[in-house]
Amino acid sequence: MAGSLKTEALVLRSIRYGEADRILHLYTPHHGRLGAIAKGVRRARSRFGARLEPFFHVRMVLYEGRGDLHTVTSVDTVDPHAALREHAQTLDAAARACDAVARLFESAEPHPEVFTLLRNELALLTADPAHARAATGLAFRMKLLLAAGLLPQLASCAACGEPEGLTGFSPAAGGVVCSSCEGAAFPLDEEGYRFLVSAVGRPLAHAPEASERALRQAERAIAETAAHHAHVRLPPLLRPTAPTATV
Ligand SMILES: [Zn+2]
Repeated sequence: MAGSLKTEALVLRSIRYGEADRILHLYTPHHGRLGAIAKGVRRARSRFGARLEPFFHVRMVLYEGRGDLHTVTSVDTVDPHAALREHAQTLDAAARACDAVARLFESAEPHPEVFTLLRNELALLTADPAHARAATGLAFRMKLLLAAGLLPQLASCAACGEPEGLTGFSPAAGGVVCSSCEGAAFPLDEEGYRFLVSAVGRPLAHAPEASERALRQAERAIAETAAHHAHVRLPPLLRPTAPTATV
C-alpha cells in the first residue's frame, strides 16, 4: 500500500544512519508507532534542519513504501520542546518517557490517548524542570498501563474481591490483595496504595507527592505489572538503594 501519509508525530528516537541519513522512531496519534528514514538530514543544507531530533513535536508527510520504514518527505515543527534540553534531569525524564512509550506501544495500533499523554509530559518538562521528579514519571507510567489495558485492580482484592484490609500487591493476581491472599504479593502500604490510585485519577501536572518508600512500592507495582502482563521491562526511575552493610 504505497502512498503518502500526513500525520503529527513525536520523535522518540533519532539514530544516525549511513553518511547523512537518520532512522526515526515516531509516535503518532492515529498510526501508533512508526519507523521512518529521513534522507540527507545531516547535510548542512538539508531542508529538514534540526526538526528531527528527539522530543520534537512535528507535522510531517511520510511516503509509505513497501518496506517497514516510511520515508520522510516534509516536516514542520509544532513544538521543539527546546527548554527541556537545558537541564540534565528534564532530558533524562523525557528520554525515559519516550522509552516507556516505545516499549509498551510497539505496533502501529492507534492509541491517540498515548500520543496526548506523551505530548503533555514533554510540555510539562519544557515548562518547569520541577516536573522531572520521580512521582510524575511514575504517574505517567500508570497512565500508560491504563492505555495499554494493563491497569492493576485497585478497588478491591484482585484475588478474592475483599474491599478492606488491602495490604499487598500481586502482579500475578493483577492488583492489590488483602492480608488473607498475600501469598505471592509484596507489601503495599496505605501511602503507596493512595499514590497508585491518585496517579491514575489526577492530571499529570498534579501527580501526587509521596515519600520515597511509597514511590518505591509504586514503582515495583508498575514495573512488575508491565513485566508480568506485557513482558515489557521498564527500567527504574528511582535510584537503587545503597546496599545495607551486614554486620
Ligand atoms: Zn483477598
